[in-house]
Amino acid sequence: MPRLCHTRDEVAREVALARGSGKQTGFVPTMGALHQGHLSLVRQAACENEFVVVSIFVNPIQFNNADDLRNYPRTITHDMALLSAVPCDVVFYPSESEMYPSAIEEKYDFGTLSEVMEGRFRPGHFNGVAVVVKRLFDIVNPRRAYFGEKDFQQLAIIKNLVSRLELPVEIRPCPTVRESDGLAMSSRNTRLHPSERAQAPFIYHTLKEAARMASMYSPADVKRKIEDIFNQNPAFKLEYFEIADARTLQSVDSFDHPDGVVACVAAFLGQVRLIDNLMICPPVSGAGHSA
Ligand code: AMP
Repeated sequence: MPRLCHTRDEVAREVALARGSGKQTGFVPTMGALHQGHLSLVRQAACENEFVVVSIFVNPIQFNNADDLRNYPRTITHDMALLSAVPCDVVFYPSESEMYPSAIEEKYDFGTLSEVMEGRFRPGHFNGVAVVVKRLFDIVNPRRAYFGEKDFQQLAIIKNLVSRLELPVEIRPCPTVRESDGLAMSSRNTRLHPSERAQAPFIYHTLKEAARMASMYSPADVKRKIEDIFNQNPAFKLEYFEIADARTLQSVDSFDHPDGVVACVAAFLGQVRLIDNLMICPPVSGAGHSA
């Protein structure tokens, strides 16, 4: 069983002890309600570091919808059981007042990176993410931190944060883990009714369809065709389907981009907002990492 820490001081002490005995720390920030996607990050962290810290904190300032925050699943007992079965040394499970003891003043500017897609539909979301991740990095002081490509834009934002502030942490992207029917694993999937759950793989199918169309049509045409496919399915309410440069996240008018081209989607299925993405044109080899 990993050690459960509630305060910054406890975690900082554990990490300092590990470092004192020559261990590097790998860090996996999460909001809990863990699934195999999260556990893949933890396993990757354990492969590359001798000491692994997972944080579980439902970060209120990254929610722009009060219902979403209230309904977000909280399953700490189950999470601890899952983390007992993987190599994990410390779980940091702070209270809100531990993370935010006083007024939050940090403001980050990610420019065009945060103006598109999630940034457009969830104002303030990425500032909330950046605030909590920066504070968690300050507390845990990891050598490497692990983020899922499932949240492609978030990964780009975190890389930008780290490079701009010159933080001494290496960001390690991890591939999206899917259910056998293609649905990207997500804590929010547990909120789907069985009939919705049965329809949910449609999102991944549209991404695959976009990849197939990429050899035949322009990005604008692919986008329009996929939007039409969504509009014909009454179960879904599409927020966006974008075809973007995998580094800048700006929409593209050709598929010829050295960092690759990614299709990103956000849609409501009933009350549940789901996001997913797929690299539909791979980066040209030697062009650095995509996100
Ligand atoms: P969350 O708890 O949703 O904030 O996610 C915590 C971390 O797990 C983030 O870096 C996510 O991108 C990552 N993650 C969530 N779902 C998946 C998945 N299906 N596959 C890989 N990583 C994931």
